[in-house]
Amino acid sequence: MPDDDLLALALVRLDEAARHLSIDPDVIEKLKYPRETTKARLMIRMDDGSRKSFMAWRCRYDDTRGPTKGGIRFHPQANGEEAEALAFWMTFKCAVMNLPYGGGKGAVRVDPRSLSRAELERLSRAYIQAFARILGPDRDIPAPDVYTNSMIMGWMADEYGQIVGESVPAVITGKPLALGGSLGRDDATARGGYYLVRHLAADAGLGAPMRVAIQGFGNAGRHIARLLAADGHRIVAVSDSEGAVFAHGGLDLERLEAAKNAGRSVLSTADGDRHHACSAEDLIATDCDLLVPAALENMIHGRNAASVQARVILELANGPVTPEADGILARNGVVVLPDILANGGGVTVSYFEWVQNRQGYYWTLEEVHERLRTIMEREGRAIWTTSKEAGITVRTGAYVHALRRLAAAIEAHGTQQFFAAG
Ligand code: NAD
Repeated sequence: MPDDDLLALALVRLDEAARHLSIDPDVIEKLKYPRETTKARLMIRMDDGSRKSFMAWRCRYDDTRGPTKGGIRFHPQANGEEAEALAFWMTFKCAVMNLPYGGGKGAVRVDPRSLSRAELERLSRAYIQAFARILGPDRDIPAPDVYTNSMIMGWMADEYGQIVGESVPAVITGKPLALGGSLGRDDATARGGYYLVRHLAADAGLGAPMRVAIQGFGNAGRHIARLLAADGHRIVAVSDSEGAVFAHGGLDLERLEAAKNAGRSVLSTADGDRHHACSAEDLIATDCDLLVPAALENMIHGRNAASVQARVILELANGPVTPEADGILARNGVVVLPDILANGGGVTVSYFEWVQNRQGYYWTLEEVHERLRTIMEREGRAIWTTSKEAGITVRTGAYVHALRRLAAAIEAHGTQQFFAAG
């Protein structure tokens, strides 16, 4: 199987999970292929008066459990196959969290930094013009992803409203607060991971205080650093794309925040006294209890997995551990809390936004946090129990947990045995 066949790689997880369940073959047949992937060429007017076109995709992978849900990414290497693989992941993530959604994903092949703000707005609106007929609050609900943000979601929701002739905020999540966004969306991914690790810490062999290393000091990484430090845990190493710093006694988070807010790397805080510089690659091997990959995919792989000293890995990033590394970590007794569970807080608060838009009644921040905590702990506990009972990794346990729910929904329409008996 070629390394770039992302969907084939994702389907390995499906086969693995299916081995631990007795499900109808129809279920696998249905989940092996995306339901629909629509492709469009977006044509926009550039500021200099010229026309330029961009390829765009929207994949609705499976909608058995509800309308499809998933982000839209703007990226120069975006493509339809990647959108399908990511939509497959979303199908499982929504099932893991028991949200009433299937999985979807969208993409535009563009380097958004090459566009002016006005061009970016035209491109965002063009995306909705192209795909409006497959979107809708009961059909397919986008959200932000790589290089898209709340302002873009606001433009997109507005464009959809113009097309259908009424305001439909629930068609898209991750909107600005003033346009129907939810409180608590900004740190939802990190907070979900934080609630999960706090709940399972003792079971996973983590004591307190924990020594924590965080790869990637962006949205997810910065928020989890703050949440864990507030509980008295020590953040001993952090990295970004330019390098890493460590301090055995704990890093000064305020200095790191100040550096990032000023547009500088975490590396700029190295002073040879409290903050010591190291390479971004060395962060993986930091002597710590909890390692939090919060940067990019495939960062822990066959060549560096054996150097991991942490007892637990919390995958805030999507796909940071390769299948080869998974095997090495399992043999070394490292517990991996997998992405489809660990970063599910983001889509869960997106779901809360959709619910609030539909009710027209908005929750307090405390209500959002409490509901998120309940879901993270409930699903985390169920997956932990499944993996212990079956003697499988937590990742396979999460796929088994999701597949059980997907299978129940698909089988409720009738199985081979049911129709053959008729
Ligand atoms: P972000 O762009 O805000 O931050 C990414 C960080 O990773 C940046 O600090 C960047 O400098 C750093 N980085 C890049 N290359 C690196 C390298 N080689 N070594 C170390 N650090 C490196 O992105 P984010 O929103 O925090 O997302 C991070 C990950 O979490 C992604 O995989 C994303 O898909 C996943 N995720 C995020 C959300 C969310 O709500 N933000 C939700 C679900 C999943």
